[in-house]
Amino acid sequence: MVFKATKEIYFCYGHRLLNYEGPCKHPHGHNAKADIEIEREILDSRGMVIDFGEIKDIIKKWIDDHLDHKMLLHRSDPLLPAFQAQNEPVYIFDDNPTAENVARVIYEYGRSQNLAISEVRVWETTTSYATYRGEK
Ligand SMILES: [Zn+2]
Repeated sequence: MVFKATKEIYFCYGHRLLNYEGPCKHPHGHNAKADIEIEREILDSRGMVIDFGEIKDIIKKWIDDHLDHKMLLHRSDPLLPAFQAQNEPVYIFDDNPTAENVARVIYEYGRSQNLAISEVRVWETTTSYATYRGEK
């Protein structure tokens, strides 16, 4: 028996992808949604997997502070020094800032805060999402 609770968090980000031929090659933005899924086999004394407000307090705050309205750039993107020189907010990725890697950084932050996250989905558009699911 498994219970799941999922919180949807909306945010906006800019990015571009290196070594890629397609619309995301050029700097642009997305109105994104992250689905934060928490999974437990046993409910707590309140009958909950987790209080939705707890996901919001931890994950939404981190997304607001680190990803929302930020430029997400690969560490080796030649645009990075220019953004930093202008004091523009950036979030630096070791890999391409794809929806897959955005899902991964959100997942890893949540796990570092001891949230029992089973999966993070990042919707880059209303029809396309990528999922990251780590170790149990
Ligand atoms: Zn894009």
